[in-house]
Amino acid sequence: MFDVNEIRKDFPILERTVNGQPLIYFDNAATSQTPNQVIEVISNYYRNYNSNIHRGVHALSQEATDVYENARQKIQHHFNAARAHEIIFTSGTTHSINIVASGYSKLLQAGDELIVSAMEHHSNIVPWQMLCDRTGAILKVIPMDQAGVLDIDAYKDLLSKKTKLVFVNHVSNALGTVNPIEEIIKLAHISGAKVLIDGAQASPHIKADVQALEVDYYVTSAHKLCGPTGVGMLYGKEELLSQLPPYQGGGEMIAEVSFEKTTYADLPHKFEAGTPNIAGGIAFGAALDYMNAIGFETIAAYEQELLIYATEQLKEIDGVKIYGEAPQKTAVISFNVDEIHPYDIGSILDKMGIAVRTGHHCAQPIMDFYKIPGTIRISFSFYNTEKEIDTLIKGLKKAILMLK
Ligand SMILES: *Cc1c(COP(=O)(O)O)cnc(C)c1O
Repeated sequence: MFDVNEIRKDFPILERTVNGQPLIYFDNAATSQTPNQVIEVISNYYRNYNSNIHRGVHALSQEATDVYENARQKIQHHFNAARAHEIIFTSGTTHSINIVASGYSKLLQAGDELIVSAMEHHSNIVPWQMLCDRTGAILKVIPMDQAGVLDIDAYKDLLSKKTKLVFVNHVSNALGTVNPIEEIIKLAHISGAKVLIDGAQASPHIKADVQALEVDYYVTSAHKLCGPTGVGMLYGKEELLSQLPPYQGGGEMIAEVSFEKTTYADLPHKFEAGTPNIAGGIAFGAALDYMNAIGFETIAAYEQELLIYATEQLKEIDGVKIYGEAPQKTAVISFNVDEIHPYDIGSILDKMGIAVRTGHHCAQPIMDFYKIPGTIRISFSFYNTEKEIDTLIKGLKKAILMLK
């Protein structure tokens, strides 16, 4: 059975205090905390077999290569990719999206159309705008309603033979909305378009099956799911990744180099120029092991309890307005209190040891949609508790009294 008090013992950071109070960490949508099991894997790498991979004949290099490639297989199996070389190690979601967006520079023509959603993280908007600048392609936007739900009928109207690519997040980091990506992918494929799903916010809660989804590209960052920062993945179907040109040139990504002609390495190395974050890649695999041992269904069910509990309590406070009330949500709550600036509330909560995020959450178009400068965002992980939510609610009421 799931015992949150046992789970919390795995996370050393949860024992510390902030401003004299026990830390309450409600900023999991920005980055998750790291369990001992993952910290140990990183430490063990540097203590015992730190070495550059793929190029060495010596024992350490072979050991590091084996463990790193084993981590790639763990990621492959977790996302049910058909082949290990369809998993590209990257520095994270942002890097992964840039690899794909950059790769389409020569594959698009002026007048081609790309479709994005109204609720994207900047990292799933800006690389595509840059691609449009380079190619003359046109960016279209799937609108959303007040509840933070995408308008699928409007999406159907946007799709046409001109549509080449669709990119949507699986879960919105600002609103928590779980998007109907199965339907989005199916509709795009009927139109002949390819789909990239930004899974950064979904991966900590939902185990995506890339083959069942038939998704063309799926990307995420390890640090959102108990892994370290600076490492993530790009999944792509083999035939699509084979067509994409490399993003960066350098060591490791070549087959042969001469000053007359250079040929590129096979997948996945074509996209992995230079020495990667080796310990990070290994720890990414360990983070998936850790979460799978608890079980993604168990994690999601527990987090839903926290979401419902916190939403009910927040709604009882006068002046609280929640943004994002989709029927399918992960444990993210964005809200404001009357005209009080989110930053002021966030600062007072910080004095009480409670970490929340305030601002636009790298999703300014959402804030423009609601005509607000930003929100207070609380986001839960499976190591949070109802007791912590009680403390937040008390602290929030105090903050409101001080600021009114
Ligand atoms: C965190 C996040 C990103 C960016 O991830 P990085 O690790 O900063 O590259 C992109 N999209 C969503 C939905 C996110 O939650």
